[in-house]
Amino acid sequence: MIAQSIGVNLFMILISLLPPYLTKILIDNVYPNQDEHLLYIVLILTVLISIFSGFISFINGYFVHNLNMRLALKTGLEFYRHIGTLNFSFFDQRKVGEIMSRESDALSSISGVLVIINTAFQSLFTLLIFPPILIYINWKLALLSIAVLPIDVIMSWYMSKFSANRTRILAEKSAEVSAKRIEYISGIRTIQALGIENFIFGRIKNLTVETAGIRLNTYAWQGTASFFLSSAHAVGAFIYSIYGWIQILSGHLTLGSYLAFTAYVGYLSAPMQGMMSLLINYREVLVHIQRFTDIYDLRPNIYNDPKLDPLIITKGSIVFNQVTFAYKDELVLKNISLAFQAGCITAVVGKSGNGKTTLVQLIPRLYDPQAGTITIDNQKIEQVSLSSLRKQIGFVQQDPFLFYGTIKENIAIGRTQCPMWRIEEAAKIADAHEFIQALSEGYDTQVGERGVQLSQGQKQRVVLARAVLLNAPILILDEATSALDTESERKIYTALGKERTDYTTIIISHRLSTIKNAHQIVVIDENTIVEQGTHAELMKLNKVYYSLYGMAEETES
Ligand code: ADP
Ligand code: MG
Repeated sequence: MIAQSIGVNLFMILISLLPPYLTKILIDNVYPNQDEHLLYIVLILTVLISIFSGFISFINGYFVHNLNMRLALKTGLEFYRHIGTLNFSFFDQRKVGEIMSRESDALSSISGVLVIINTAFQSLFTLLIFPPILIYINWKLALLSIAVLPIDVIMSWYMSKFSANRTRILAEKSAEVSAKRIEYISGIRTIQALGIENFIFGRIKNLTVETAGIRLNTYAWQGTASFFLSSAHAVGAFIYSIYGWIQILSGHLTLGSYLAFTAYVGYLSAPMQGMMSLLINYREVLVHIQRFTDIYDLRPNIYNDPKLDPLIITKGSIVFNQVTFAYKDELVLKNISLAFQAGCITAVVGKSGNGKTTLVQLIPRLYDPQAGTITIDNQKIEQVSLSSLRKQIGFVQQDPFLFYGTIKENIAIGRTQCPMWRIEEAAKIADAHEFIQALSEGYDTQVGERGVQLSQGQKQRVVLARAVLLNAPILILDEATSALDTESERKIYTALGKERTDYTTIIISHRLSTIKNAHQIVVIDENTIVEQGTHAELMKLNKVYYSLYGMAEETES
């Protein structure tokens, strides 16, 4: 496609050689000789050329648009596919708005790439053909007309460096502005509740004003440079016209040749400027593309390797062997050895910030440990395919997340077809069926921005139903019922206990009374497991669990 486009462009340049030559014939031959026959030929040729080049430019426009569209479509989609493969650790460090602005900047630059390639070829070709023609017509005039060229080149070179630098700064600033704006809108409830609208808005305003300032300053410099250039061009044209007309008046040059010459010089100035702005543009485009590929080229450490065998779960026992994990430098888990028995409910307890969430996130490989191994039914989790691992783990995270859509869609998300009775059954186990039915549109109620606002506890139950429906051999509930009342929570755990007798279930909970009946309770404190056993055993120990339980009793009563 790009080759076609370039080919068409070159062809157009060749055609554009004709009209000035025809004008020269009109002035130098038709007019002095009163040659009517030649007049008609020339005029008909002129109109045919116009029509033909209109057609060619339409075709070329289509090529370029088509290519642009396909390139943009592919890049945009590939980018989002790629984002889906990146690890939690990536998203820990990036803001949504920043990522999005890198993508949109790059997309708008892509059309720039095509223009650059096209212009480069077109200009090069023009610069190769026209100067010899000019020199052929009148070499002195030709040299005069291109005398300003070196100024152009030098100026453009410096401008391009300057612009690239500014583009980078501006792209970074705009990414920050866009991240802050998204944060402002998505966090507006917290912002308003804290009454800090003005403070947060002020930060956005400062940044936006600063960015606008840089942008304006950049325009000013670029404008100054092009003003300087155009002045140089005007002076150049002045000298060249004087010389040209003196030549005509003294009879050394025909008027037709001079006019054709001027037309060709005119043709030359566009590609010249094209080349110059190309110098500037290509660096700007490179900056955007670089910022895009910074993310696009990231290779996640944890990825789905199709060569690996799928995880085969027969029982579902999970074993941690000497597992150590740190976020960056902060050690969170140290030498953890632990078994989650198949068919059992294991509760993980401990003070907030002690690494409970971190521990369970290692099982579906949301993060990989720095040392140690984790096996499921004796298969190392990093040696089985990631998709098979994650598909067999139901994971309810601390913050319930609902997609825009109906409650039904939210529970059955990821499935194309799911019978209604199974959705309802899952909702019943999650103690969500009753409240969903009480909604005016039941399971078809829209949730999210334009729909019904659910309470935190209701959201948690919908998300729980989603995990129950999965019916996965391994189920992890990370404070999944923290916003529910004790009674509802107990109801859920009783139902789950009945449902999951053959499966492995891990529950993280702050409300210790609800996990009293777990087969095994694991207590985490200061990066490691300090106690392990049943409720009765741990109470007898009279240490960490005992005191946690005591505190829990106090807060609950
Ligand atoms: P818990 O679930 O027991 O409250 P977490 O596992 O969430 O504890 O956190 C354990 C520790 O790891 C905390 O000190 C927390 O600050 C830190 N931490 C948690 N998530 C991240 C993260 N994504 N990046 C860096 N540090 C984290
Ligand atoms: Mg947690």
